[in-house]
Amino acid sequence: MTMKKFPMNRRDIVLGLAAGSILPVAGCAQNDALGRSQLQLVSDNQIMYLSQQAWTQAISRERVLRDPGYNRRLQRVGSNMVARSGMSHLDWEFVVIDSDQVNAWVLPNGKVAFYRGILDIMEEDGHVATVMGHEMGHVAGRHAGERASQQQASQIGMQLAGALLQSQGVNFDDNMAAALGAGVTYGVILPYSRQHELEADRLGVDYMVASGYEPHHALDFWVAMSSLHRGSSAEFMSTHPSDDTRIAAMREHIASRGYS
Ligand SMILES: [Zn+2]
Repeated sequence: MTMKKFPMNRRDIVLGLAAGSILPVAGCAQNDALGRSQLQLVSDNQIMYLSQQAWTQAISRERVLRDPGYNRRLQRVGSNMVARSGMSHLDWEFVVIDSDQVNAWVLPNGKVAFYRGILDIMEEDGHVATVMGHEMGHVAGRHAGERASQQQASQIGMQLAGALLQSQGVNFDDNMAAALGAGVTYGVILPYSRQHELEADRLGVDYMVASGYEPHHALDFWVAMSSLHRGSSAEFMSTHPSDDTRIAAMREHIASRGYS
């Protein structure tokens, strides 16, 4: 797959913008899963293309665990939840990375990585579903695209970013891979914003409950993670900070939905 080349150079675009002959395409798009609009400057096609690159590289850099026990478990929970998330159009893939790290991540194209270290502390499938739902929530929330857009806009300015990304696309590099979600592999830890985390939590709980898992497993897991966090510096906690406010928000969501 090749990127479309754009006949204008950067100077033309700046002049065009100044003269008003190029409409800034800078896009705010409504996201129904979130019930809010969000900045999406990078096209869906590009996000998918870049995600595929990030996935291919991550899988070749990391050691993939072939153990059937771990893989069956992740597959079972993952495919169960895809059906209930409304995102079965994506080509989901669930891979276990052979590492002690307590971590998991997802890319916008539905590629999910769980590290052995996080699966080892999950006693119940409900705990796996908690993190799976949360990661799927990031996908439905289009958080990676929003983050990549914000990153590009802050680097080159909003209007220019809109025009450039529409025409020339985004280059793939480690920072882009990190913005998309595969940061751990690339050594760039990019925490999601608090807003993104809370949104992913809410959607994740909805998906897990719809898939037949018990919502208290979500609370149990995050409470356990926050105490683990106090005792160590787990990677997952630096990208998914958990604290009392966040757990309280989840508890409130569970109550307001009437889940029990
Ligand atoms: Zn998260």
